[in-house]
Amino acid sequence: MIAVTGAAGFIGRHLVADLRGGGDDVVGLDRRPGADIVADLVADDIALDVVRSADAVFHLAGAGGVRRSGRTAEATWWRDNVLATDAVLRAVPRSTPLVVASSSSVYGGTAGRACREGDPLRPRGGYARSKLAVERLTRRRLAAGGHVAVARPFTVAGEHQRPDMALARWIAAAAAGEPLRVFGSPARRRDVTDVRQVVAVLVAMARREVLGSLNVGTGTSFTLREMVDAVVEAVGPAEIVVERAHRDEVEASLADTGRCRRLLGFVPVTDLAALVRRQAAAAGAAATGGGPAEVLRPASASA
Ligand code: NAD
Repeated sequence: MIAVTGAAGFIGRHLVADLRGGGDDVVGLDRRPGADIVADLVADDIALDVVRSADAVFHLAGAGGVRRSGRTAEATWWRDNVLATDAVLRAVPRSTPLVVASSSSVYGGTAGRACREGDPLRPRGGYARSKLAVERLTRRRLAAGGHVAVARPFTVAGEHQRPDMALARWIAAAAAGEPLRVFGSPARRRDVTDVRQVVAVLVAMARREVLGSLNVGTGTSFTLREMVDAVVEAVGPAEIVVERAHRDEVEASLADTGRCRRLLGFVPVTDLAALVRRQAAAAGAAATGGGPAEVLRPASASA
């Protein structure tokens, strides 16, 4: 049996569907409805019993939201990222293949070139710091000879993307005839990865028993402007409003894909237009014709 935590979440539900499609026996766990077992990893013993007895575990449960801040957000990241991962690491036998979701945010953005797994980590903000703490916990298991692979996804997109993420927000706004809010300069860049390919990487990480951290990205990036244009193409014309970026949002993200290619033999590739069309269709955002996006209110604040 394969256990997937965070199974009612964006990436988790794609992963569960993919594994089941391949004939695997999967138990999805989440504290939200939509999983086979609805339980909290920090509070409910049954959740840990599931991961303890699995033949392989994908630990995707966690709390995101780079743009949040304040004590409540910090407490949530600590509980759902750090404490939940600690509980999973204690429960899962060391020999069981375990893949843990970290995040590219541990890098703190690019330093003029694509981020490599061995680069110094400079997390910005509470979410990124909590993911660094998650990674530190996994290192103890590695040092003790245990199995654990740490996935560092870059921006993941596709059907059922988290509603707080940029493409999902823009698709919903365009469909509702509301302005698309772009945080920071439209020239900012993101390494956007198709959720289907993220799933392929996660599965390959478990099957090939990858040890340690691995970037889950494409090695290419799109500007926010290109992403907005893809939404306009898929959904329809929209006003674009540029607003100040949250201080913890990085200017650019880009994965070095060398280790992924070496260990897995492939690297994700993103067809942005097709990906956004798929995501918009799944969100029920029908195309109304499209046309070039127009920046009506230029950046008034930081880039
Ligand atoms: P998501 O929020 O859609 O899913 C996470 C799920 O975990 C949610 O359904 C939530 O209910 C569940 N969960 C949280 N705490 C829990 C707990 N204590 N017990 C049980 N369930 C709990 O997130 P996602 O976008 O699918 O991301 C999955 C993982 O990948 C997360 O760890 C996230 O930090 C990481 N990640 C995602 C992205 C991305 O672009 N989506 C990028 C980098 C890293």
